Amino acid sequence: MPRKYTRTQLRQHRLTHTFQNEQRECAASGCTKRRRGMGSYCSTHAGHRDRYGHGDASYIRPTEYTYERKLVTEFLTRNVDHPATQAALSWTRRLLSNAVRIDHDGVRREIQRLEQSGKVTPKMILVDLAALWLYLHWQPRRLPDDPQCLTFALAVCVLRLAPSYGRHQGSVTRRELGKCLQISLGPFLLNVVKAVETEVNQLREERNAFHLPFPVGRLAVN
Ligand SMILES: [Zn+2]
Repeated sequence: MPRKYTRTQLRQHRLTHTFQNEQRECAASGCTKRRRGMGSYCSTHAGHRDRYGHGDASYIRPTEYTYERKLVTEFLTRNVDHPATQAALSWTRRLLSNAVRIDHDGVRREIQRLEQSGKVTPKMILVDLAALWLYLHWQPRRLPDDPQCLTFALAVCVLRLAPSYGRHQGSVTRRELGKCLQISLGPFLLNVVKAVETEVNQLREERNAFHLPFPVGRLAVN
């Protein structure tokens, strides 16, 4: 027969556990601060987890993937008539005009904000998402090894395309938007990343050929 606790005992029990947890160090790497409440992180890293999907993750500034954006812009401009690009542009256009079914109110509100800003275009969304994905493919240690980090990073990449005036959209909104982008555009973005990487490697091989030494022979001159 399980023992029954009174409400006061349960409260006391919870307070003791919270107190004990708050004596422990934050789970984020290198952080020596104390944990907050019953969570694994201090308040700073709990904020990181809510914003970027993991206590060790941080904001990826658009300037970090400037080079990748240049490559992707050139690639997508050249392949704009490809059926995959057209399909991705069409889906993104429908997303912006609220024609894609989204069950989460917060995500709908954010998409509306992007659309009403008048600054965000479907191509801009595709270019930035593919550039970010390519950057993370080349810099796999930029984010912790947790698939949720990519989900959050994709959402943040799109959300910052129009000013939000410092307002944090909430972790659920970010996760839901990230999932929506990943599920629908993931295969397209992955193919863009693969194709751009192949072209970059080809170019590198061509340039490396300039450095190949010649076999030593004998010059036929006196
Ligand atoms: Zn911490």
